[in-house]
Amino acid sequence: MNPFDLQTSRYARQMRFAPLGVEGQRKLLASRALVVGCGALGSVIANTLARAGVGKLRIIDRDFLELNNLQRQVLYDEDDVAAGLPKAIAAKHRLERINSSIEIEAVVADVDHTNVERLLEGVDCLVDGTDNFETRFLLNDAVVKLGLPWVYGGCLGAEGQTLTIIPGQTPCLRCLMPEPPPPGTTPTCDSAGILATIIGVIASLEANEALKILSGHLEAISRTWNVIDLWDNTVRQIKLDAAAGPDCPCCGRRQFPWLSGERGSHTAVLCGRNAVQLSFPGRAALPLDQLEAKLAAVGQVTRNKYLVRAVIGSYNVTVFPDGRAVIGGTEDIAEARSVYAKYVGN
Ligand SMILES: [Zn+2]
Repeated sequence: MNPFDLQTSRYARQMRFAPLGVEGQRKLLASRALVVGCGALGSVIANTLARAGVGKLRIIDRDFLELNNLQRQVLYDEDDVAAGLPKAIAAKHRLERINSSIEIEAVVADVDHTNVERLLEGVDCLVDGTDNFETRFLLNDAVVKLGLPWVYGGCLGAEGQTLTIIPGQTPCLRCLMPEPPPPGTTPTCDSAGILATIIGVIASLEANEALKILSGHLEAISRTWNVIDLWDNTVRQIKLDAAAGPDCPCCGRRQFPWLSGERGSHTAVLCGRNAVQLSFPGRAALPLDQLEAKLAAVGQVTRNKYLVRAVIGSYNVTVFPDGRAVIGGTEDIAEARSVYAKYVGN
């Protein structure tokens, strides 16, 4: 099957869109994108990029599926939730059924300063599907250092925003926001909720920008900070000060404190989950068999290839082979650490 045939190709309608054309499709098929986070935004982004024929798609996510994800995380279904699969794995299975002619790599991990540059290796564009500023500031450091384009996007309630960043040409995330908002000062999807509709809009804008970048059409990218509210029916396109660059600690002065590990932590209260993630970059692999036996002595254990989960009293403890854990049933970091120490070990 000729992927460039204007009658029979799966990409036929897309190639008939003149600004993209056959040449754009050729570039897309030869391109590589990284989608960080495969929850609500990441689902829509990965779905769109896979269908559009981005040749290599690397998707990374640190979490597993829960029933309350299905309202907005369009790649998943009830079977995936019942199987207790990590999102990256469930996403890969689904995307391979959508487009078997492209390469999809799933990575179950937390992006941190020790692995981000490796995850970006060979990638032409990064697309943001994360739900927290700590990860976004790390990603911004890494892509500015490497000179890679990225598309930032975020949603809360019925509002969402996007910014397309071409290092050296357009303002970066820290030009827009020199410091991340301190934890606890901004609403989360726990407190403010989230509508699936704004996810669809913002994720589509992000995927659209990625398609322009990957098909070589930088002249067409959005050069404004876009803020859309679907409840108030407002669309704001804010021009960023082009002079922000030289004074920006990141793209101007080339300081990368999140990338060096000076800023940021390995612990995160997961948005909307009543759960805390604990991770231990650089630690040796954990034998899940041994851990399964250990946890079976104190709670109800379930296990698949990718994780062990135990319900212990009011806690739901999920451990991945790299030692990373999600402690459900608390948003208190100290409490989560003590549960981990008690049942998993140090
Ligand atoms: Zn900047």
